[in-house]
Parts: sequence; C-alpha cells; structure tokens
Amino acid sequence: MNRTVRRVLGCSAWLAASLVFLACSSDDDSKPTTTQGAAAGVKPSILFVSIDSLRADHVHCYGYPKETSPTLDALAAGGVRFQTAVSTTSWTLPAHAAMFTGLYDSAHGVIDNGLALSEEHVTLAEALKAAGYRTAGFFGGPYLHPIYGLSQGFDVYASCMTTIPADIDAMELRREVTKAVSPSHADVTSPRTLESITKWAAEPGDGPFFAFVHLWDVHYDYIPPPEYWKRFDPDYTGSLDPRDYMGNPAIRPDMDPRDLEHLLALYDGEILWTDEHLGKIVELLRQKAGGPENLLVLVTADHGEEFFEHAQRGHAISLFEEVVRVPLIVNWPGHVAPGRVVDELVRTIDIFPTLATAAGAEAPAYVQGRDLLGLLAHEGSIPTEPAMLELWMASFDFRALRTETIKALSSESQGDVGGFRLDKDPDESDPLQPTWPNMKKALERLHGLADESLELQRRIGEPGEAVVQPWLQDRLKQLGY
Ligand SMILES: [Zn+2]
Repeated sequence: MNRTVRRVLGCSAWLAASLVFLACSSDDDSKPTTTQGAAAGVKPSILFVSIDSLRADHVHCYGYPKETSPTLDALAAGGVRFQTAVSTTSWTLPAHAAMFTGLYDSAHGVIDNGLALSEEHVTLAEALKAAGYRTAGFFGGPYLHPIYGLSQGFDVYASCMTTIPADIDAMELRREVTKAVSPSHADVTSPRTLESITKWAAEPGDGPFFAFVHLWDVHYDYIPPPEYWKRFDPDYTGSLDPRDYMGNPAIRPDMDPRDLEHLLALYDGEILWTDEHLGKIVELLRQKAGGPENLLVLVTADHGEEFFEHAQRGHAISLFEEVVRVPLIVNWPGHVAPGRVVDELVRTIDIFPTLATAAGAEAPAYVQGRDLLGLLAHEGSIPTEPAMLELWMASFDFRALRTETIKALSSESQGDVGGFRLDKDPDESDPLQPTWPNMKKALERLHGLADESLELQRRIGEPGEAVVQPWLQDRLKQLGY
C-alpha cells in the first residue's frame, strides 16, 4: 500500500487488516419522490448557526448518552432532525464556503487557506438580501474572516475573535489572519458572540432578518469553565493539560484511557457551554422576530473531530465519519413537523436551497445542493443523492463519494484507493478494494461529480488569493474593519 493510500485510509491498524470482499448490494436504491412546495406566503426570519467541530454523535438527541445539548435537543424535539447529514470536507474554510454557495469544494474552489471565494459567486446571504432580508453574520474563528470572501452579502459581519487586532493595516491583514490561527484555538468567543448579537438585535429595522452565527468554542483547545467539564467527569484526579491541544505530546493514540475519557469530557463541556449560549441566542432572536413561529432556526456544524478512532486527533486530516458527519436540525414552529427524524443522507450544500425556498428567495440554478423543505414539512422521502467529500489542504489530494451505504475514495496523485461499506462496517475498519463492483460504480459516479464540479468552478468563478484586493478594501471599510 503506497503512502497516499496509507494517508487516505489513515490508520496503521487498517494496514494490517486484509482487504475483504463483502456481498454486493445496491447502495443507491432510490426512494419514491415526494414533492413539497415552500411555505406559501410566509417569510420567516432565519437564524443559521454553525457550531465549529461539533460531531453529530456527541449531541444528546443524536443518541449520545450524556446530556451535552439541551438547546439542540429542544430544537430537535420541536423541529426536524436529520440523522445522517454530512459536510463537504473536514475543515472550516471550504466547509463554510460550501454551505454559503450550495456547491461542492471543487465547484466553489476555496480548498486551501490561501484562497478566497470569487465575488462572482452568489452566496446565501446575497440571495436573501436580494429577497429583502436584513443580513448579519457573527464569527468566532479565523477562516470566517472577510479576507476569505465569505462576508459577501452581509450588511453586518462581525468578528467575535480577540486574536486579530481591530485597527490593522489592510496590507498586513493576510499575515495577521494566518498568524491568528494558532492563538485562536485558545480563544473563548461565545460570550462575546452573544454580546455582539444582543447589540445588533437591539437595533431597529423592518422586515425579516437573516442572522448567521459561527460558534467557535467547541473547536480545540478544550478549555471550558470547570463547572461544564465537571458535569461529565466529576471524579477526574489526573493531570491532563488540555492547552495547546495539537502540540501537546501527552495527547496521543496510546495515552492513558482515563485521560482520554477526561479529554472527551472537556470536549463535551465545550459543547454544553456553547449550547447554553445558543439557547440565549435563539431566545433573543425569537423575540426580535416577533415570536418562535416567525423564526426558522437551522443548526449544523462545519465538520466533526477525531479522537483517535483511526489513530489521529483533530480534523483536516481525513474524511472518516467522525469528521464529516454533522448535526443538522431545523426548527420552525407551526411550519415544520415537530419531532420528525429524517434518516436519508443529506448534505450541508442542501442548506442554501432549503433556506432560499423557505425565504422565497432564489438560489442559482447551478447550485448542487437540493431543497429539503418538503422533508421538513411532511412525512415522506426523497430520492437519495450521494455526497462528495474532499480534502485538498496541505499535501492532501483526495475525494470520496459517500452514499447511504458506501464510502469510495480516490486520490488525485495515486488513483482509486477503495473505501468502506458503511452499512456493514460503520467504523470504517475494513477497507475494500476499488475493484469491488459497487465500489467501482461509486468511484465512476465520484469522477463524474468531480468533473462536473470543476467545470462549474471554471464557469462561475475561480477563487482568488486571500489577500486584501481593492474591492475587499472597500468592503472591509463598510464592515468597519
Ligand atoms: Zn471548523
């Protein structure tokens, strides 16, 4: 097995595992189509929340035994929860570009931390603004900075970070944003985000609003206030220091299981701490919208997190389920079916067309996501669509097709590498060869989707360099940077 295959598969244990051939079964059985329209005559205000690094299986309403997420649980109980939602990648910048454009990473092109979304793209905020929405964004991590082009369409776009100086020379901004990545891990932003939203919410304004909120604190380092982690691990007497998470030599695959348990309790503590702030934000914006029935709340995450399930920590290093599966919950009292759980595979690129339809706005025809509003309002199902996953950061060069039952991986430099049968091997521990018939079929589909996406990128607009372009300089001034 070559170096790339090893990296794609990412687990030394798997290298020892023999490739197995399992019985074939259809992986893309289509289900009957249910056609549903938008909620006629209703123009809700919208709160779209992205909780950085929140894996679905650490959210209580997704089956996690610990009560990490009372707000998310309540939103799901009163709304719709998508059991199997996936991102386009495993790191922040392309994942948000995908949510904001409804496009796969190869189509929006922002696949590296030196690139910015072309202004030729129509973003979700731009589409909603064109439909009469007041738009505001609040972010807590460096990759959401306007330098990456994600502020397009926002009337207000506020940084809730402390790690980038407020009054900085525009030409130095790129350097400062890059420098801010590491210190941002220790940044605590939820209270500042709540404060910033509270100030904005107090401002008068007519008509519906669209608020995007990026909550950062679930991202490492895991340093919640003690009362939050103590809720999940009150008896810990060890000495694990959670600071400098990625550089900490004590955090490694063979670490003491008790310390790893504590690490997970710290992560869970960050989830609870963030969830509590989310609750206050939802309450505040429900009031601003004039009541819960006037506010559509959508909560998701940009990616998950690895805790040595495949011998690695962090994210942006693989496309395993623990980093690509995210929660997706939509709450809109009186308009979506309360307590509904949708099992079908859905994608974060579906968010743009779904919110656009709910808002009576128009998503561009080329958008690769699809409108899920019908699934929100009624029972029924839609034909299954696969999800493309990609990772191009640093020296990674692979993409995958994830269907409801298969994950098929291909490397740009090394060709098709095979993958996993998720229905029989949900832990992704038994790699399958690319020659397995269903894998082969999935890989063909993957190459087709990749070609289509790259063609879209050429047609719509290729990314620019993440530096302060003249147009961005004006935009930064408008936004108060
Ligand atoms: Zn992220």
